[in-house]
Amino acid sequence: MTVDSQRTLGMYPLLLDLAGREVLVVGGGPVAERRVAGLLEAGALVTLVAPGVTTELATLAREGRIEWADREFQPMDVVGRDLVFTATGDLPVDTAVAEEARSHGIFVNSADDNERCDFHVPAVARRGDIVIAVGTGGAAPALAARLRDRFAASTGPEWERLAALLGRMRDLARVGVPDRRQRARILSQAANDDALLARLAAGTEVSPADALAAAQVPLAAPVGAATSPAAGPHPAGAFVSLVGAGPGASDLLTVRAYERIRAADVIVYDDLVDRGVLEQARPDAELVYSGKRGWRNAPDRPGPELLAQRALEADGKRVVRLKGGDPNVFGRSTEEIAALQAAGVPYEIVPGITAALAAAAAARIPLTQRGVAGSLTLATGVAIGAGTGPADAEEPTAADIASLVRAGSTVAVYMGLRVLPQIAEALLAAGVSADLPVAVVGSASLPGEIVVKGRLADIASAVVAQVVASPAVVILGEVAR
Ligand code: SAH
Repeated sequence: MTVDSQRTLGMYPLLLDLAGREVLVVGGGPVAERRVAGLLEAGALVTLVAPGVTTELATLAREGRIEWADREFQPMDVVGRDLVFTATGDLPVDTAVAEEARSHGIFVNSADDNERCDFHVPAVARRGDIVIAVGTGGAAPALAARLRDRFAASTGPEWERLAALLGRMRDLARVGVPDRRQRARILSQAANDDALLARLAAGTEVSPADALAAAQVPLAAPVGAATSPAAGPHPAGAFVSLVGAGPGASDLLTVRAYERIRAADVIVYDDLVDRGVLEQARPDAELVYSGKRGWRNAPDRPGPELLAQRALEADGKRVVRLKGGDPNVFGRSTEEIAALQAAGVPYEIVPGITAALAAAAAARIPLTQRGVAGSLTLATGVAIGAGTGPADAEEPTAADIASLVRAGSTVAVYMGLRVLPQIAEALLAAGVSADLPVAVVGSASLPGEIVVKGRLADIASAVVAQVVASPAVVILGEVAR
């Protein structure tokens, strides 16, 4: 790998066990002194090469805690080392050390030469076994230290206690809870238990056995959980949450959605759900992809029975069905809910921010506005425009939308980007003014977010010119002016 490609790629973070490892430090100034202190803390066997060192380093050498060769660096010094640090303050010397180490396949850190570092030393704070390490790619150590201080300040001693407790709970659970998944679920529940953290902060002694027992009690079914009257006997833990994931940005999840995602054993998602949202899942959660965007053309997407099937596995699983936006807005939840009811699996619906709301926020459009628009219609665009396939009878026609717009309603059209030219044409033909303000918002809340505003007569060509890609919402009405 060239130095160049190294600079453009991200560093891979590791916490290294250096106990009993041979580490060479070249240089005897304050930077070397800091490195040596950290290395000794980690139990490394440190050899220092430098003609003249700080008094602190000289003391360490005298006490036999480090080996000190009181001379200039020699190429042979790197032989047999696991790791090399150079901090001589003399760039040619640092370069020579770095090149020698590399030629032996040894990872090297050069204090003053970012380009020649195989690894950086992060700013670190420790809380027992918890290590908070912050790096900035070597570019801004002071910023790393500032961030480290910020994280450290918000990580009180209760976290250290929680880490120790979880370690002991894990040991107990290895024996007491043979099922690996169930064990992971219990430990994850304890790790996320704010009440437990509060008790530890208050200095309360919590025994690992008690904490384990408490975490084994299944989560109470969420308030408002709907159970079919026909519910048959099913595993106690089986539960499905239809969760609105919002328009894409992971910080537009609701707290409840976040909690359900964190607690899920299985997460079923489709194309409209952003990766950043999925990253909130537990590492051991199973992620199931359920099909492509444009559902009309995806015959291979899993059927609505999938959710119930997965929920009923083993002792019952917590299944999250993630839906873009809100599950009740063009989310096709009806079939899934019918299947859940038929199987007697309890379920809930967690609302999310629907695309029209995110689009309006991006375009700074008030969807309703006194004296301008007194209602909002969420419409699908699929029925408008010939040749887009069979439409359901209840889908709005151009005439429906034209009368809504004329009555002063704001209309947000979902799934309307591809048929925008047909929509515009049909509305014009239905007598809507060519000057009707229209906004098209693509990838609302996502990195590629784009807003195009225009008039009904020219919006379709503006959208082509600005290369708006799906998903996009079309907002029609005076409020888009
Ligand atoms: N349940 C979803 C809608 C699913 S239908 C919701 O409540 O938002 C899919 C349509 O949603 C897309 O065709 C597009 O019109 C819209 N959409 C979804 N995410 C979007 C986003 N981030 N930006 C713009 N439109 C989006």
